[in-house]
Amino acid sequence: MSSTDAQPSEPWDEAQCKAALAQLETLQQQLDNLRLTVHRMTKPLSKPPTDKPLLFSQYKQAAVGSQNSLRAFRAQWLGEDVQSLFRYSRESAQANPDLNASSQLPRYGWKRRADASHGSAGAKQSGENGSLSSDAITNNDDMGRAIEAIRQEDPHVKVQTADDNRDITISFMAETTFLKFHITLKRDANGQDKLKAECLRPTTLSDDITRSIETRERPHDFRYLLDMILAYKTIEGKTCAKCGKAADQRGHLPTARRAKGITTDEEKTLAWKAFHRGCLD
Ligand SMILES: [Zn+2]
Repeated sequence: MSSTDAQPSEPWDEAQCKAALAQLETLQQQLDNLRLTVHRMTKPLSKPPTDKPLLFSQYKQAAVGSQNSLRAFRAQWLGEDVQSLFRYSRESAQANPDLNASSQLPRYGWKRRADASHGSAGAKQSGENGSLSSDAITNNDDMGRAIEAIRQEDPHVKVQTADDNRDITISFMAETTFLKFHITLKRDANGQDKLKAECLRPTTLSDDITRSIETRERPHDFRYLLDMILAYKTIEGKTCAKCGKAADQRGHLPTARRAKGITTDEEKTLAWKAFHRGCLD
């Protein structure tokens, strides 16, 4: 009963931990997707059955799709990679039960970073040495992939695109605040693409947020812009990274965002900090 002589694992290095976080994020996405199973299966039945073959095909598609999703989730969960991750995290929590530092970690973005570091060795070079001006607007395929990654990562973020990704609307609930952003890609008289973004809602914060976005450090980097917008998922209870206060003298929230620690990793790892406008350097 008391044979607990299993060998403790070697401590994981940073790369292993990041890969594990990406794996957990994949599981989370699969779970989020499975939560819509009942909705997906009953949706075809909610309309009057005017076209029965079509209804059958839609229902079958929903049922088979849901079953495949469940199977994929189970396979992933029971796979050795995930099981060893669970074993390791149990051991690690026993060795050090203080999990306070984990509250500083971003919840999303690990999978995207893992995919990016596997798939874009060439693109990685452009961001080396923290050069902020070297990232050009990516081509339409890259933009499409970045948009799709956001949809996959967090189904609560709604992304609508028009005009071949040259007109994009992103909306989500940031705790209790509904935020909406509009991105446009327009060609100027010199044939240069200009990436513009503004916050449309809520009107009480939109001017401040838009100004923060307009003064971003990488104006031509589409992924950076998306990352920045998603950094507004947490808006309430944020304290300013400079003065440490939630509200400044005028009672304004820290609505500006700046990425810190850009070059801590080969890939772009952005840690977004909140600032009051007056507290920006
Ligand atoms: Zn401040």
